[in-house]
Amino acid sequence: MAELPDKRTAFIDWYLAVVEAARLTDKRYPVKGMNIWTPYGFRARRNLDAVLVREIEATGSEALEFPALIPANEFAKEKEHIKGFDAQVYWVTKGGLSDLDIPLVLRPTSETAIYPIFAVWVRSHRDLPLNVYQIVNVFRYETKTTRPFVRVREIHFFEEHTCQANEEHATERVRSNLEAFRKMAAAFVLPYLPIRRPEWDKFPGAFYSIAFDAPVGGARTLQLGSVHHYRENFSRPYGIRYEAADGSQQYVHQTTFGLSERLLGAIVAVHGDAKGAVFPTAIAPYQVVVIPIPGTESGEGPLKVASEAAERLRRHGARIHLDGGDERPGAKYYRWEAAGVPLRLEVGRREAESRTLTAADRLGRKGPVALDRLEHEVGERLAEFDRALAERAHAAFAASFAVARSLAELAGSTQVRLVAWCGSEACGHQIEAAIDGALLGTPEAPLPIDPGATGACIACGATDGARWALAGQPL
Ligand SMILES: [Zn+2]
Repeated sequence: MAELPDKRTAFIDWYLAVVEAARLTDKRYPVKGMNIWTPYGFRARRNLDAVLVREIEATGSEALEFPALIPANEFAKEKEHIKGFDAQVYWVTKGGLSDLDIPLVLRPTSETAIYPIFAVWVRSHRDLPLNVYQIVNVFRYETKTTRPFVRVREIHFFEEHTCQANEEHATERVRSNLEAFRKMAAAFVLPYLPIRRPEWDKFPGAFYSIAFDAPVGGARTLQLGSVHHYRENFSRPYGIRYEAADGSQQYVHQTTFGLSERLLGAIVAVHGDAKGAVFPTAIAPYQVVVIPIPGTESGEGPLKVASEAAERLRRHGARIHLDGGDERPGAKYYRWEAAGVPLRLEVGRREAESRTLTAADRLGRKGPVALDRLEHEVGERLAEFDRALAERAHAAFAASFAVARSLAELAGSTQVRLVAWCGSEACGHQIEAAIDGALLGTPEAPLPIDPGATGACIACGATDGARWALAGQPL
């Protein structure tokens, strides 16, 4: 079997090969950038969505679903928003053989679908806060090279939209979303930084945007999702007003929180290694694969013991696959390692006789598991695996950052760079040109390394108001 490309020196090739080898998606659908969710990939997606649903509903948000088509006149109401998405939308202009009176946009995101209806729903201060989310597919005519999960044209998308009574409540909602994402990322074992985007890179129409970025090797970063404060930028054009307790009419302040299948790409990119994908147990399509190594004997043979073990673990609530196919055991080990299954249980003749299985986790640790204590010992090994995976990911995260003290130092960066920045757009663009990437913005959390005093802006030399910002190469 072919070896994977080297993750460090040929990251993109490595990523594409890992996605392929794990059989998470099928790219052969005849529309570029629209991929098929295979059964294995779909399982991962469903587990991922379950974490999003659990954490967002814990904050009082409710699920709903809006239609996929948006009338052109509603889409055009917020000027910055339409400017930001104009070049990326798919249009529906015909119904059967006739031209539509009002052309329809296939949603690239749902502000303009939802907000005309929010204007009808929100009447009084008693209707607030309004916190709702949907998990739907959105469509963006992506012009850059498409890549599975990371840059696609049909995107599996999570979007929360909220209406709050005032700016302060909206700021609180942003904080609550940041905390919800912290819990989601813990389940995905993904270290990241929340970063406030510079003005020129915020969501079209937002007052400000905070994005979550994960370093994925070298100076490369992957945006995992984002939270936006809209102030009254959408509520004014869409007329979302309420009667306050004092009888006055007020515009709501809005927020949104967006995540997508990119999270799955990030899990592959961050945890994957020379053998393929590695899934944390919360997301793993199968947490345990049980592999009988058949002999010729009947009775208490390997297949019977393997079936018993699989059945018991399944009843215990684990996601199990019993691989009883006729491939050689070595080929099966190789395939399930590439697929990122956290734990493998091997049952040969010796194991069947002693009723002690051999466990091997995806990080290479092996040991016996007594059939008598199967559920308990498998649970411990999975927890141990998650801890080791987190340790590995956090060590890689900490090693991903370095300070740059001059623009010249940014060229050919092999790490994400901390730079002192005065906040001006002109300096921001100079930093972006020097690193051949983006100024990601200013962190909303403690810095991952201690860079010392800020000093002067590395572009213009101004010492006044210079702050630490991050610069990298977004995928
Ligand atoms: Zn400057």
